[in-house]
This record gives sequence, C-alpha cells and structure tokens, in this order.
Amino acid sequence: MPSTHQSPLQPGSTIGILGGGQLGRMLNLAAARLGFHCHIFDPEWASPAAKVAQFETNAKYEDINAVLNFAKTCDIVTYEFENVPSLTAKTAGSAAPLHPGARALNVAQDRLTEKNFIQNEAKVPVALFQSVDSVHELRRAIKKLGLPAVLKTRRMGYDGKGQFILNSEEDIEPAWAAMQNAPAILEQFVDFKREVSVIAARSTTGEIAAYPLIENQHKNHILHTSTSPTTGDDGRAQALAIQIMNSLSYVGVMATEFFELHDGSLVVNEIAPRVHNSGHWTQNAGCVDQFELHIRAIAGWPLGKTQPKHKMQMTNLIGNDINSLPIYAKEKDCFIHLYGKKDIKAGRKMGHINRIIV
Ligand code: AMP
Repeated sequence: MPSTHQSPLQPGSTIGILGGGQLGRMLNLAAARLGFHCHIFDPEWASPAAKVAQFETNAKYEDINAVLNFAKTCDIVTYEFENVPSLTAKTAGSAAPLHPGARALNVAQDRLTEKNFIQNEAKVPVALFQSVDSVHELRRAIKKLGLPAVLKTRRMGYDGKGQFILNSEEDIEPAWAAMQNAPAILEQFVDFKREVSVIAARSTTGEIAAYPLIENQHKNHILHTSTSPTTGDDGRAQALAIQIMNSLSYVGVMATEFFELHDGSLVVNEIAPRVHNSGHWTQNAGCVDQFELHIRAIAGWPLGKTQPKHKMQMTNLIGNDINSLPIYAKEKDCFIHLYGKKDIKAGRKMGHINRIIV
C-alpha cells in the first residue's frame, strides 16, 4: 500500500525522481531550496540530476526489485520523462504516492490514446488523426485526411523523431518503411501561424496555477527559443490546459503544446506530464519557477506566484552552442543554466540561457 504522508509534505522528506536528466537536476535544485532531499533513479551513474542529489540508485527501469527498494526510501515519487515503463511506475506507486499518477503517464506515452483522450474525454480540439497499423491503413487514412499529412509512431517519439511528412502518394511506401511496422497515427498537416504552450500546475489539494502563454520556435525539430509573456489570449489557452488537467485529476506541472491557427483558434499538439523545456524561462522571471511549482504541487504546498515580473526569452544551448559561453557570461540580464553533461554531441541539450527582454 502507498505510504501515507502528512499533507503538506514536511521539509526533510525525500522526493524520488525517476530519471536523471536535466529536468531531474533542476527539480532537485528547486526541491533542495525547500528543504527536501531527492533520490534519483537512473540507469547511469552520475547523471546530471544525480550530481546534485543526496541519494542515487543506478539500475534498469525494468529491475522491479531495484525500483521497489528505491521507492521505499521515498515519501513521494515523481518522474522527469514520460517514457517511464508502466510497470516501473506502478511498482514505485505501490510503495509511495506517485505524482503525476499512472493515468497521465499512460495517456502521454501513446499518441493515439493521448489524442482520443484529449478530444473525447477532455473535449479539447486536436488535429484530425487516424490510427495506422499497416500500409493499407495508411492509404485509407490518407483518403480521409488528404495530403500533406504527418505520420508519427504512437510511442517513443520526441523532437520530431519517429515522424515522417507525406506530401505525395510517392511518399507512402518510404514513410511506412521508416515506421518499421511500429503502430502509428496519421495526422492532418496543420498550417499553423505559430506554436505556443502553457505550463500549468494542479496540486494534491486541487489548487491550480498557470504561467502566461509561451511562444516557441524550433530549429531542426528541436526547441530553440521560448518567449513569454507573448501576444494572444492567455486565458483561453490556460483554460484548455486546465480542462485537460482536471479530466486527468492531474497532480504536478503539465505542459500543453498548441498549434495556433491563422484564425487564432488553438488545437493541441501534445501534452507532457512533467516540467517542460518551454518553461525554463520561469527560473529568472521573478516568480515561483516551474520546477519549484512542480515540487510545491506534489508536496501539497500552496502554489505561489506564477505571474512573471519580466518578459523573458529562453534559448537552448545545443551541442557546440555551449562554446559561446564566454560571450553569454559577459552579457547583462542573461542567466546561465548548465546541465553538467560530460560530452558535447550534436543535438544534445547542454544548457540554456534566460534573458530578461523587458
Ligand atoms: P511533435 O513531436 O508531435 O511535438 O512534433 C514536432 C514538431 O513537428 C512540432 O513542434 C511541429 O513543428 C511539427 N508538427 C508535428 N505535427 C504536426 C502537424 N500535424 N502539422 C504540422 N506540423 C506538425
């Protein structure tokens, strides 16, 4: 049975984090400010999060005994990536309260389940989609949705990985071959004006808080900059994000990514049941940042202020961008966040900078 914890969780308690990447690292730093200890579970020794943590366990996510022993040392458990295997999450959740819960994880892990949930249960618009399990079904889906369209694996896709844009009939065979028979969905290609996101939290008490709307620009399918506040109807986007969180009885920070269409309407691209790259600017905006917000939400603390004092822009430092560090270090109103990763690799997120722009 899950151990009961006092609500709100007391300083000195231990928060378990499944995953040791940069998101876990920044969650850990925020938790430490509030007097909590963190225990990181990651297959690799000295992950970015473990380098700043009090405790670490190194084992495979499939090592159920290791997961159980880890969770028994924790007062609550959370995760920093959505591909935590469901048995791992279930096992951790049997020994300590798991926030966000297993349902959020199941929904976010599978694009088909996610789209069905958002459209039919949360009643929030998504791009038109069809389930596709064979080249025959792909042809049928194209008849319904038309071209161009985007074929995506149902599971394990991120930063544009596992995706294929189909522009003509000739793209059908190569697109299906690229899926390697993995279950997929076909989405209508959205001719969007821009991509925006909402970072919001719901606590164990049901309290809700949201940051202003964020505008996101990508380079090579990877997030490049996030700017907030931005033009647009904060309230409408926030209301849709909150509708999804309430439908999931969600606890923690959740990111909702939208396509904004030319008529100003919003359709959801995807949700992330965790802190999110597009929310990193909150760290230097003069309010409670998204990492502390998540810790407060799962610990049952009041959520605090999410209204930024400044307009902010976050820029990711990807691969060799990190070599420009001496330039950023001299810049006024520029805040540097590095993840402590050993090797520079193309496409690897090494850190980010947050600039106050107004
Ligand atoms: P995703 O991994 O689903 O977030 O997709 C990565 C990026 O591909 C998005 O941020 C968009 O820029 C683009 N994209 C994904 N789906 C579509 C779509 N249905 N229509 C147009 N662009 C898309």
